[in-house]
Amino acid sequence: MMGCDGYGQHGQGVRLPCRPHLPMRPAWLCRNCAAPWPCSRAQLDLVGEFYGHSLALALYLASCMNEAIQDQFNLGGHPDLVEMHARFLGWLSLTRRPRHRRPER
Ligand SMILES: [Zn+2]
Repeated sequence: MMGCDGYGQHGQGVRLPCRPHLPMRPAWLCRNCAAPWPCSRAQLDLVGEFYGHSLALALYLASCMNEAIQDQFNLGGHPDLVEMHARFLGWLSLTRRPRHRRPER
């Protein structure tokens, strides 16, 4: 596990429960768990935060994805656009509710 961003992690499994799962740029790794953002916990938080506003969430994630792609280019990297899309937006379909599906009579 990487030492995160120098906020004084003490190792030894010390957990700081209040630290939000936000992206650390330009690497776009979670500040809390160092997983590629949005990590699963960040996804949960986002779904809760944007509950009932799935379009706004999709737009937010799309803008995050664009920034992450730009950051990678700026770092001289070659982001895999398909992978980035799957990472930032692909999981959204899992939370989409089948709104118009009604039981047939
Ligand atoms: Zn996280």
